[in-house]
Amino acid sequence: MAGETLIPEGPALVAIPTLGRNPQHIHDKAVDGSAPASPNSDPAAAKEHLMKLATDAVPASSTLTLEQETNPWEAQSLRFDEAARRLNLDPGIWKVLRYPSREIIVHIPVGMDDGSIEVFTGYRVQHSSSRGPCKGGIRYAPDVSLDEVRALASWMTWKCAVVNIPFGGAKGGVICDPKKMSQGELERMTRRYTAELIEFLGPEKDVPAPDMGTNEQTMAWIMDTYSMHMRQTVTSVVTGKPVSLGGSRGRKEATGRGVSVVTDEAMKHLNMRPEDTKVVVQGFGNVGSNTAYFLWKKGYKVVGIAEWDGGLYNANGLDISELMEYRAKSGTIHGFKEGEAYDKDELLLSAVDVLIPAATENVITSRNAAKLRCRVLVEGANGPTTPIADEILADKGVFVVPDILANTGGVTTSYFEWVQDRMGYFWTEKEVNERLDRIMTDSFQDVLQYAIAHGVNNRIAAYMLAVDRVAYTTKQRGFYA
Ligand code: NAD
Repeated sequence: MAGETLIPEGPALVAIPTLGRNPQHIHDKAVDGSAPASPNSDPAAAKEHLMKLATDAVPASSTLTLEQETNPWEAQSLRFDEAARRLNLDPGIWKVLRYPSREIIVHIPVGMDDGSIEVFTGYRVQHSSSRGPCKGGIRYAPDVSLDEVRALASWMTWKCAVVNIPFGGAKGGVICDPKKMSQGELERMTRRYTAELIEFLGPEKDVPAPDMGTNEQTMAWIMDTYSMHMRQTVTSVVTGKPVSLGGSRGRKEATGRGVSVVTDEAMKHLNMRPEDTKVVVQGFGNVGSNTAYFLWKKGYKVVGIAEWDGGLYNANGLDISELMEYRAKSGTIHGFKEGEAYDKDELLLSAVDVLIPAATENVITSRNAAKLRCRVLVEGANGPTTPIADEILADKGVFVVPDILANTGGVTTSYFEWVQDRMGYFWTEKEVNERLDRIMTDSFQDVLQYAIAHGVNNRIAAYMLAVDRVAYTTKQRGFYA
């Protein structure tokens, strides 16, 4: 397997460069070698600095208000603009990549169990298909917004480029509260949402996956609905399916596994030893619980778990396998005998070596960043840190493994699932995990070396690497009139 390339050669995908090892192949001017964004621990000054970056980056557009600090689309755009500016990106390509290529809004009528009819609003945003079919999850949550879905779609483009897999980026969302809906209501909503989007989805067009509030069952319904319309079974239209329906072994755990691999790499880089390393994880859902589990198995001391309704702490480390079993039986982490109840916000600020937000966006902001005491921040969630918080963390010397690198284990294994479905031949779990570990390790090193070579922080390095790769294929394909 060593030396094997994961990028198929084909008309639309020829010779995608391994840019991390051979940068600067596209732009006339060399990457700006100036110093990284000046760190500043004062939130007001940091904001002013970010506003200047944004204004410098896109003449006559971006301004950033405090309210916008927690807008994921603004946060994404600001990092993209900074990467584009440092890359001296062609102004035309800059405009193309700054905005999604397609935004679809659907209003979904659903017959509810009580006989009433409800209408749910859903989105699908396709940011880029330059490097391959659009790829990205579907989120069911009450606070889904178009700006959030836009940001998540763009992040998918950058993530797929960071790990160099042949996908573009997309994301979907439906404004609903899945916890308050029956299985029947969820199934009818999912099937109608799929039917409304039918001409925009497909193995070669746009391939959804689970995200918050959706799961393997949701993907099975989407696959079945799409297949009924196509009059044949099309397993590769979604990933994150049950293994019995063409899912990949290892997919469910893949994001957490990937987070644990990049954490290992960060430890090696910083000369830290897992057995001496205390970790707090926020969120005990798919990403959080699997991250905690893999780290615990590797010998890290997972001392705290923060959930939305409170935290759990044990200075000697929690037994994550037992906690997972306890949560599966009781439906909660609370009351677990080996841990004491702890304030969920205080847990994030506790003196640990590694903090892993793996729940939701905007949990590290100008309000708490200065109080963080971790040495390493590994972003399991999408968008957990605002741009202002980035500046504060840089000033404090926190080593950040950014979301668009850290949580790519899921989409990488989704790529494996799509490949296996199209081959009709399925890999062992060992094969999946070995391939995933290799990609995560290589990608971490690509980003780290890029950051060192260009004097930027890891987040901007990851964006620069990704934007440069996508810009390359966009330019290479050209524009159909
Ligand atoms: P999930 O719904 O399985 O789990 C989320 C967990 O976070 C739940 O246990 C929930 O109770 C908890 N939570 C929610 N708000 C919280 C808060 N304010 N404080 C503490 N805990 C809170 O979702 P997931 O799939 O684990 O996704 C988590 C994050 O990871 C999201 O940002 C998602 O976009 C991102 N992500 C997921 C995947 C994946 O493969 N599932 C891949 C990449 C990124």
